[in-house]
Amino acid sequence: MYINFVVVIMSKLTDTHCHLQHDRFKDDLNEVIDETEKNLAFTIVSGANKEWNRKAIDISKKSKNIYATIGLHPIDAEKMSEKEFQEELKFVEENKDNLVGIGEIGLDFHWEKDEKMRDLQKERFVRFLNLSKNLNLPVVIHSWDAEIEVLDILEKEKMKKVVMHCFSGNLELMEKALELGYYISISTIILRSKSTRKLARDCPLEKMLLETDAPYLWLDGKRNVPWNTEYAAEKIAKIRKITKDEVLEATLNNAKKIFGI
Ligand SMILES: [Zn+2]
Repeated sequence: MYINFVVVIMSKLTDTHCHLQHDRFKDDLNEVIDETEKNLAFTIVSGANKEWNRKAIDISKKSKNIYATIGLHPIDAEKMSEKEFQEELKFVEENKDNLVGIGEIGLDFHWEKDEKMRDLQKERFVRFLNLSKNLNLPVVIHSWDAEIEVLDILEKEKMKKVVMHCFSGNLELMEKALELGYYISISTIILRSKSTRKLARDCPLEKMLLETDAPYLWLDGKRNVPWNTEYAAEKIAKIRKITKDEVLEATLNNAKKIFGI
């Protein structure tokens, strides 16, 4: 009699932020989903506008290893009428059971220079934060050239469960985010960004997450894919002089904890 031992090696790889609903995945989405199932413990698809929010939920339903967060990129949020914005808040609320978080939401002062529009971004950001508190979901923060304002608002609103997506602030701002108990998500941009390498060196391992922001942030404008977080993990391990497995294990546990997976 033969006994077959099937050795199942569970992957510890995660991608906590990507956009598989992007057009660059439309021709081979099912293959990409198969690959993420094979290679990653889990993947989180993030919405950023009306269309992407609906698609993020659809994609998360195709696989038990894919989860969704939905929200509005600040530039998309500011462009909506009050009625449209309210409808989107309602859509988030109605879908709360399909979500592991709200985002991306935040402030983008890189693309918005007008003070009145920046104020509108802030107002709508706070309304999303209040919704997340009501629904008890973590928030995934987009912030570009607005890190100081974002952290001030998060602190004022007493936010506890926060992920700084693709954090691009300096070390001092990272310190502030860490003091507030927030998670720092290191993207594959680490392969070509010196400032991200500095953040990855100083961020405590128990506050670090991995992401691709796929299809963005890969090399030479090529399409990024969720399993490329492995290269980010390799880089972080090298910088910190630890093993890749330690990075993968810590980031997996962190992602489970903050997103309740
Ligand atoms: Zn993104």
